Amino acid sequence: MSNILIDKIVSYLEALYPIIYINYFDFNLADKLISNAITAVSQKSKIVEYNNAYGIIDFDTKNPIFECDLLNFLKITSDYGYEQEIFLILKDIHAQLNDPEIISLLKRISETNLYQKDYYCSIIIVSDILVIPHELENYITIFEIPSPDDQQIIYLINNFKQELNLEISDDVISDFSLLFKGLHEFHIRQILNLAYQDGGMINKEDKDLILKEKEQFIKKSGLLEIVNTTNNIKNIGGLENLISWLKQKGKIFSSLDKALKFGVDTPKGIMIIGMPGCGKSLTAKATASLFEIPLIRLDVGRLLGKYVGESEGNMQRALSISQAISPCVLWVDEIEKAFAGVGQGGSGHEVTIRLFGQFLTWMQEKSNTVFVVGTANDITSIPPEFLRKGRFDEIFFVDLPNEEERLKILEIHIKKRNKWNRGIDLIQLIKPTEGFNGADLEAVVKDTVETAFINGFNSITTTNLLDIIKITKSISSTLKSKIDNISNVKNNFGFKLASFPSQK
Ligand code: ATP
Repeated sequence: MSNILIDKIVSYLEALYPIIYINYFDFNLADKLISNAITAVSQKSKIVEYNNAYGIIDFDTKNPIFECDLLNFLKITSDYGYEQEIFLILKDIHAQLNDPEIISLLKRISETNLYQKDYYCSIIIVSDILVIPHELENYITIFEIPSPDDQQIIYLINNFKQELNLEISDDVISDFSLLFKGLHEFHIRQILNLAYQDGGMINKEDKDLILKEKEQFIKKSGLLEIVNTTNNIKNIGGLENLISWLKQKGKIFSSLDKALKFGVDTPKGIMIIGMPGCGKSLTAKATASLFEIPLIRLDVGRLLGKYVGESEGNMQRALSISQAISPCVLWVDEIEKAFAGVGQGGSGHEVTIRLFGQFLTWMQEKSNTVFVVGTANDITSIPPEFLRKGRFDEIFFVDLPNEEERLKILEIHIKKRNKWNRGIDLIQLIKPTEGFNGADLEAVVKDTVETAFINGFNSITTTNLLDIIKITKSISSTLKSKIDNISNVKNNFGFKLASFPSQK
């Protein structure tokens, strides 16, 4: 148990913060924290615990003392208070924090505690679900229990090692301390136990187990999505400048422990802006394969909740979960839509603005191994703060594929469908595919192969491809004004180009 945490809660208690909300799932750890902090504040004070399921219970033994509902319990507390210093621990009462009577009683107890000399009752709410009623916003202080840092993780592993008299090499401890980063003490012990049960020892082979367990946490949260992808950089035609940059960062991720010890900064992430259907999502997926780490998608829309503070709580949880699975790629697709409206005013956007601020601060301060890949088309609606230095390591612009890139993309998709043959003359396809994006080129190959099959041919020819190209409407013709707008962005902002200039 970290002394910093105990000191922090002690300082809240001494400053008479009316309600402290410990937002945490592991009640055992929360109890240790509360008991240490309260003893430090005063030896004479007492703890009264109310649990939503059992009523009043003994804080030390957890034995039920008196069954009653929360409303009656708070009414009595509010009317009579206690004659000595009391800390009221309310567990799992989040579902009742929408009830106006409960809210008003909590408010009254807090105020009486603050202003009436002979009335003692400080409230500590413990729940892993954060519900802050608007009326109590000024009374409640949220207390988050962060996951253990490197030193604490090493301490936990060493403790486990000693308890079971195990041999765990220093290399494994060092590797695991990185993998366990972002997980809470409870989960770390759970995984160590599982690994031990599995083979009676703990070694490098248990890495997979840690990753699988981490995936479980993600699925259970429902806030993030694990994207299973087989895409790798070989599936991308062109974008060589971007890919070579990613390969450099990949070297850091493949020896992360060594790189960090050497003094290398952890890469933060990239923003990929540009034309639709030109490989931005493909690159996000390929990045995870290149770095050999999981790909997690953050959909901001999924985080929005109906109660005050719920969306922010969800964002906080989503970010901590991504840290728990790190090293990982966190992909925020269509950033311009996710944070739409930020900077345009209007009360409807307040929550989005707060979420945006939360995400920015996290990006700015983050030193974890979550590599963020943001992708966006229309950068004009992205708040400029997002693009400031210090947030992403680099911002790349993806343009419509140039001549060489078009050839490569066509070749990739023809080969993917096992229809590559020496008779295909790609050079003839360069001019007619001017203005096509990657998705258009993929569609050309798909339709050509389909037509060949329907007509009973075994292979495809250059003429077959040219025939389909003639009837394909490229993105440049269907979405001309959108493409022109995005093109202007490229010229005005001077971002790094994802492609090298064409040699043709
Ligand atoms: P949007 O902005 O509309 O989301 P995007 O840039 O993310 O588009 P992708 O989803 O990566 O586009 O690409 C769409 C499809 O087009 C992919 O499934 C892929 O097959 C093909 N494609 C696009 N660009 C390339 C490329 N550079 N190399 C190979 N295939 C590509």
